[in-house]
Amino acid sequence: MANSSLATYRNVTGNQSGQRTQKITKITPHYMVAAWSGKQCADYFAGTGRQASSNYCVGVNGDIAVSVDENCRAWASSSEWNDQRAVTIECGNNPDSSLPAAAYNSLVALCADICKRNGINPHYDGTVNGSITMHQQFAATSCPGPWLKNKIISGQFENDIEAKMGQNPQTNDKPAQNASKALYRVRKSWADPKSQLGAFASLDNAKKACKAGYTVYDNNGKAVYPVAAKPAAGKWTQNCILKEGDRAKSVSCGIAVFPGTNSAIKNIDGVNCVNVPALGGGVPLLDVTEASDSKDGNPKDNYLANTNARITMDEFTVTGIDMSKDTVQVDNAYWVKAGPLMARR
Ligand SMILES: [Zn+2]
Repeated sequence: MANSSLATYRNVTGNQSGQRTQKITKITPHYMVAAWSGKQCADYFAGTGRQASSNYCVGVNGDIAVSVDENCRAWASSSEWNDQRAVTIECGNNPDSSLPAAAYNSLVALCADICKRNGINPHYDGTVNGSITMHQQFAATSCPGPWLKNKIISGQFENDIEAKMGQNPQTNDKPAQNASKALYRVRKSWADPKSQLGAFASLDNAKKACKAGYTVYDNNGKAVYPVAAKPAAGKWTQNCILKEGDRAKSVSCGIAVFPGTNSAIKNIDGVNCVNVPALGGGVPLLDVTEASDSKDGNPKDNYLANTNARITMDEFTVTGIDMSKDTVQVDNAYWVKAGPLMARR
């Protein structure tokens, strides 16, 4: 039994399968949907007739309890395959699904410790093959909740774990991993790999290569382009709470030169972007239209010749929400500030 030395309490439950049959290669964070301490959660698993458990329980105040010893298989992820390979961790959370800072910091420290002791390179790759997995990859559940899910799919969670492990996320093998994370494949259908026209790190380039009858898929096999527009319903409304799946666009926004340059246009990772401070920085030119009230003398010329020009962001589908940063993800690609956005309501 080699448990984390960060655990301060142990109450082992009978809800488990005993010794693992597989080497530990993964971590799977869950959320309790309760503002419990780690001890409360471990005590619950020890006392319940429900077939539920996890290796560790991280409380809202950051305490860490053992419910199933790390070398044993807990019943957490609705998947024997995953639970045999993953150290599973239940986390106490706020009503909005976020983890209090104390809980998140403890989760990151615990994961760093687990990764170090088990030789795991923490990485979510959108498939069950990654070393970070989510309950909702195995069952119809909201677990681990929108807040933690966003931390995981944005790469923030693994970066935080690596920082805790004493690695520098900027100098290890991150670039290659991020490239594979962001590969967009152009196919007739996801199930037909032979029809593939190419795989692109840039969604922009994948869109350009996408001919009629073809679709751009992300790593999960989710179609991201062309995105079928929802039937127009409701009025464009600003200052509403955005949700995943919303159709959104921006109000007219000013542009500005990129800091340290004298141009509002810059090539970022192979994509020509315009600097829109209200949206948080560079936005791909392909995704904006020059606003009709532009004062550069060339309305709708899509050239944005000077910084008096204004743009609106074209309609897109919200595919992610990060409430802590007040940002939303655009068509499974980059993130923008939510402030200037409107959705149909
Ligand atoms: Zn779960």
